[in-house]
Amino acid sequence: MSAQDKSIHDFDFNLICEYFSSMERQGPGSPEVTIQALSFIDNIAYESRIADIGCGTGGQTIVLAQHLQGRITAIDLFPAFIDKLNSNIRKLNLQDKIEGVVGSMDRLPFQDEELDLIWCEGAIYNIGFERGLNEWRKFLKPGGFIAVSEASWFTEERPLEIEKFWQDAYPEIDTISNKVAQMQKAGYIPVAIFVLPENCWTDQFYALQIPVQEVFLKKYAGNKTAEELVENQRHEAQLYYKYKAYYGYVFYIGKKI
Ligand code: SAH
Repeated sequence: MSAQDKSIHDFDFNLICEYFSSMERQGPGSPEVTIQALSFIDNIAYESRIADIGCGTGGQTIVLAQHLQGRITAIDLFPAFIDKLNSNIRKLNLQDKIEGVVGSMDRLPFQDEELDLIWCEGAIYNIGFERGLNEWRKFLKPGGFIAVSEASWFTEERPLEIEKFWQDAYPEIDTISNKVAQMQKAGYIPVAIFVLPENCWTDQFYALQIPVQEVFLKKYAGNKTAEELVENQRHEAQLYYKYKAYYGYVFYIGKKI
């Protein structure tokens, strides 16, 4: 398999963790987009309980804590990401608002109807959009909100090269209208849907990886896996610039009926 045929899932997890933990975010997004998504959510009070699932190093968790009342439990599978989040929480003195926890999105540590809000930026694909929406619903109180961002097609038809890339990386990528229908079928009122602006991918994600790639290639000079990981990320960025008319990230905000 050449580097170009690999998806990110095929690489050594420790190397991926090291590469991405040096970045503030591990997926496309921005503080502005997090705040925009938050603007559709009401009824969050001091005693509210919030989960940020697949939080990574917590770029969006910190923004949430700074704009919301309530306590956030931020969960990620990778201890290195949670360590970084916990150190940022201490630096910013947000210990009373956020707790970083290592855990998996398929075994969440919540009670039924415990949560007022479930947040998940660029991570629900790990369990699958439909499965995540369905399985997590029970943790929400009636009237509670879910806000997830997810890779989506913008058009009914796409060039073969990008279609094949996504079929391998995440076959559940689908059109916005199909995703909205899935959200509704899972028992949520689709409250708001918006496409993330391109700068969430370009300036905020791929451009920030360039210096990380240089450091990484120096540190792991001659290490095939590291070189392939960087090559893979560069290829993914090139595909984005070439095919951004056909896909992107979309925020889906739903309210539990
Ligand atoms: N929300 C962050 C990170 C998105 S990247 C941001 O937008 O910047 C996807 C994240 O999902 C990674 O941090 C990865 O470690 C995490 N992840 C992958 N599988 C997971 C699982 N089973 N449970 C919890 N988190 C998981």
